[in-house]
Amino acid sequence: MTAPSPRFGRTPRGVYLIAGLLGTAAVLATFASVVPWYVDNGTFPIDGGYLVYSQYFTPGPGGYTHACSTYVSAHATVCVSFSYDYSGGSGTVSISTLYYGLLGTSVATALLAFAGAMTISAGLQGRVRPRMTRTLVIAFVAAALCAAAASTILLPTAQGPAYAGFSGCPGFNGTASPCDSFVGQVNCLGVSTPCSATNGSNFSWYPQTGWYLAIASAGVLAAGLVLLHFQPLAAPCPFCGTLNRFPARYCITCSRPLPADKLKNSVGYRL
Ligand SMILES: [Zn+2]
Repeated sequence: MTAPSPRFGRTPRGVYLIAGLLGTAAVLATFASVVPWYVDNGTFPIDGGYLVYSQYFTPGPGGYTHACSTYVSAHATVCVSFSYDYSGGSGTVSISTLYYGLLGTSVATALLAFAGAMTISAGLQGRVRPRMTRTLVIAFVAAALCAAAASTILLPTAQGPAYAGFSGCPGFNGTASPCDSFVGQVNCLGVSTPCSATNGSNFSWYPQTGWYLAIASAGVLAAGLVLLHFQPLAAPCPFCGTLNRFPARYCITCSRPLPADKLKNSVGYRL
């Protein structure tokens, strides 16, 4: 009597894990696409008072929005139109390139590192030939290093041209601006101390929730792939159908010996 050779596959838990992780990553990515990735807050003096503003970068068309700027003087606090922003010219391009680029290169580096780890694991299990393993690992490591290097090159390259342009990315006479660094601040430009909102320009810029959500979405996916990779495989007993974990020799329900060699040979896929 020859029992049909079962094939190892994902346990129901493994399937739920994949579904849960994909769902979580999708929810995080959805929220990331609608909330700001970046904010630039500032105050600067204008005639008789000073202006307080906030502007946000959100992904998608439009990119920039700014909150109502407030003109504050001794007599009035009013909402004024704000022409001094990054919504036109090279500033928007520079900053969005920076944020998308850094996200993209981090995700690419993580995926390539994961692919390299998977290849090493497959090589150790004898599922990939040593020479092929070596070639693949070298290729993945080289590609991961290139992706990581791209993000460090990206910072100055994406920001350089806009930095020079006052109208594109205001930096007040060549000082630091959001087009110059990922996170930063400038206090009391060109004014005498002591510094206050009324006598100097103050700017600060930093990432917002959306940026972190985008990173978290990619992180959940990457962590999920690793977890899944180490999740045990299982196969139904050819006699009673019980799911037995690899590499079980005897069925846990009916105690019959499982066709171990066939089972081993049938393990041809792991995520
Ligand atoms: Zn059984």
